[in-house]
Amino acid sequence: MSESILSINDLKVHFPIPQKGLFSGDIPLKAVDGVSFEIKAGETLGIVGESGCGKSTLGRAILQLIPPTDGRVVWMGEDITGLSPSKMRPLRQDLQIIFQDPLASLNPRMTIGEIIGEPLRTFFPKMSAEERREKVRDMMDRVGLLPRMINRYPHEFSGGQCQRIGIARAMILRPKVIVCDEPVSALDVSIQAQIINLLQDLQKEFGLSLLFISHDLSVVRHISHRIMVLYLGRVMEIATRDSLYDSPRHPYTQALISAVPIPDPDKEMAKQHIVLEGDLPSPMAPPSGCVFRTRCPYATADCAQAVPQLDAVSGEHEVACHHWQTITPPKL
Ligand code: SF4
Repeated sequence: MSESILSINDLKVHFPIPQKGLFSGDIPLKAVDGVSFEIKAGETLGIVGESGCGKSTLGRAILQLIPPTDGRVVWMGEDITGLSPSKMRPLRQDLQIIFQDPLASLNPRMTIGEIIGEPLRTFFPKMSAEERREKVRDMMDRVGLLPRMINRYPHEFSGGQCQRIGIARAMILRPKVIVCDEPVSALDVSIQAQIINLLQDLQKEFGLSLLFISHDLSVVRHISHRIMVLYLGRVMEIATRDSLYDSPRHPYTQALISAVPIPDPDKEMAKQHIVLEGDLPSPMAPPSGCVFRTRCPYATADCAQAVPQLDAVSGEHEVACHHWQTITPPKL
């Protein structure tokens, strides 16, 4: 795999939440709190974690759809942090997004030909209507939609077909990176597999990089080359897929993986089940030191004192835990 094309450095997204009372001021809701990673051309990086861990906010902040509070987003060597919508517009050709709810993300008043072709109209205003329709038909065919349906409206399609329309629209400009924000969560399992396979085929054909956000570890395992685990807006662990699933080092990753059912009943019986106690703390009042410490079975007094930094376990495997060297990976 080639060199990094997108580099995220200590990215923070804090939302000021006003408090009651005249002199109370704002409290920051720390949705993303110091995330760093890189993504290479042709790579899929899975981003996992419970609801509310900051996955979607991170994806949107990378694309500058939400302004970051601090840190840097560097795209192909250029710092794009805080660029205005007009300055970001040319970059949208390379940086696209697919949303979770396929039908809600499509304009019900436009035909699917207009929806898929809209980015072409924006970026290539001199392109003739016939050339645009031809490109739309080609892309429809490529994503498994019948080109003769070009004049139909979104409500005439199933959820899986609507997600194919969303993918066709994201792909029509031949982007280099797509942020996939829970793209299969709203779909039936059989349709999920079709959409995942389609994304993988498109990745191979066009050398795409994917940031694949999901709470479903089975889906993420299937599609990702590397996986990053988020908790309360911070990176707990990042590793290649096999290293993460074969030897998870962070207690949170271990709990997430232990919750994934194994189809083989004997293996499912034999594996260690780790149940996390308590709920995700509020991102407005995260625990001091290690943010996971209120739910961690290995927490000690020093876990409340210092924020654990990412430490190298091996080549591409890093974990943020003070005690990872003394925690035995469970049998999963
Ligand atoms: Fe648990 Fe402490 Fe490691 Fe945090 S730093 S994961 S609280 S052992």
